[in-house]
Amino acid sequence: MAPIRQLPVLQNWDCHQCGSCCTDYWVPISEEERQRILAQGWEQEPEYRGVPLFVKYGPPWRRRYRLAQTKGDRCVFLDERGLCKIHAKFGLHAKPFACRLYPYILVPHGDHWRVSMRFACPSAAANKGRCLSEAAEELHDLAREMEQWDQRPGYQRPRGPGLGDPPSLDGRQRVGWDDLHLFQDAVIRLFKAGQDDLARRWLKCLALARLCRQARFDKLTGGRLREFLDLVLAAVDAETPRRLDDYAPPGWMGRVLFRQALAIHIRKDQGVRRGVSKQGRLALMSAMWQMLRGTGKLPQLQVGLPDCSFEELEKPLGPLPPEAAQALERYYAVKLSSLQFCGPTYFDYPFWDGLEALALTFPMIRWLIRGFAYLGEPEATHRAISVIDENFGYSPLLGTGRQRLALWILSFRQELDRLIAWYGR
Ligand code: SF4
Repeated sequence: MAPIRQLPVLQNWDCHQCGSCCTDYWVPISEEERQRILAQGWEQEPEYRGVPLFVKYGPPWRRRYRLAQTKGDRCVFLDERGLCKIHAKFGLHAKPFACRLYPYILVPHGDHWRVSMRFACPSAAANKGRCLSEAAEELHDLAREMEQWDQRPGYQRPRGPGLGDPPSLDGRQRVGWDDLHLFQDAVIRLFKAGQDDLARRWLKCLALARLCRQARFDKLTGGRLREFLDLVLAAVDAETPRRLDDYAPPGWMGRVLFRQALAIHIRKDQGVRRGVSKQGRLALMSAMWQMLRGTGKLPQLQVGLPDCSFEELEKPLGPLPPEAAQALERYYAVKLSSLQFCGPTYFDYPFWDGLEALALTFPMIRWLIRGFAYLGEPEATHRAISVIDENFGYSPLLGTGRQRLALWILSFRQELDRLIAWYGR
């Protein structure tokens, strides 16, 4: 089995049994898991007599099962204290794979796996629990199971030999895993530049992407690629303005596409936090239209969004206090070191496109922190990260041609840079 490498040592996590994942998501299960749960004899318990444990979903030619939910969108196996009854009665390994994996994300890297997290889990966003390096054994077991299991939720089967081909660099341009890791290291080096604030680090990453997109890398590889990247990093640092005020504010198109992307990220159409979509399609369309217009009150695309106006969300935020800034840095460190922004864990986006998709979360998170300011810091930042990351790599809307085009326009017109500078204020 392929090893797990480079555990994000800065990241901590333990389940604190808030029950949020058991009330927010559908849990897909394989046929083998369904049979295992059936064999546990739940129908003999009085409370489960006549209660369906599974629901079929998907098109007729690809029917799959998920765990059923009871009133209030709670998992059918969730007890009143927020604990899993399968876990309590039969132990951790009797639970479906999706439940055991959450909130980890295993990202294939050729001959090994790397680990990312779903920061939608409040404990992951708040960095609560054991250091991930202490969970190495558990992650090793999950990776082994992942390699065996053909029905992985949220993942596509890695293609080719080993753990799959590397994501393309840009469109049709491909490099091997070793060279792709050199590009990744270059981005991480920019990101670790502690003398810059986070906004300037992102602006430098975007400048790096622009420069690299103009070059061909079929002959430039290994040590020569490393030298090239060293030169480019120096140029990027020299040419990226130091003051965010040097960037023009985003134009109308940048703002509309930004709010459209925001609408996708903050929208929740299932679970207890389901927003206006539970009032019907018309209400959802009206809320999406309001997001595009960006006037009046922020529509409740999910329960618990700030009760404020778009105008309030435009006010400058200023620098984050150290604990909140560290939470945001940690979030990006985990995503960048795992590559969970491109390839099979991000709709097969090429490396640079996925990096831009991740960069776009920066102005989104800063925008949302303004609305959650009433929580105080670092809770406001934790909550904003949780909300934005929930759909990152998971909402199918982010993988559509329309969203790829929107991201391309933001990048091509350098509106993405302006958004980062504007909401970095
Ligand atoms: S959301 Fe996180 S902390 Fe809460 S129950 Fe799920 S895994 Fe545990």
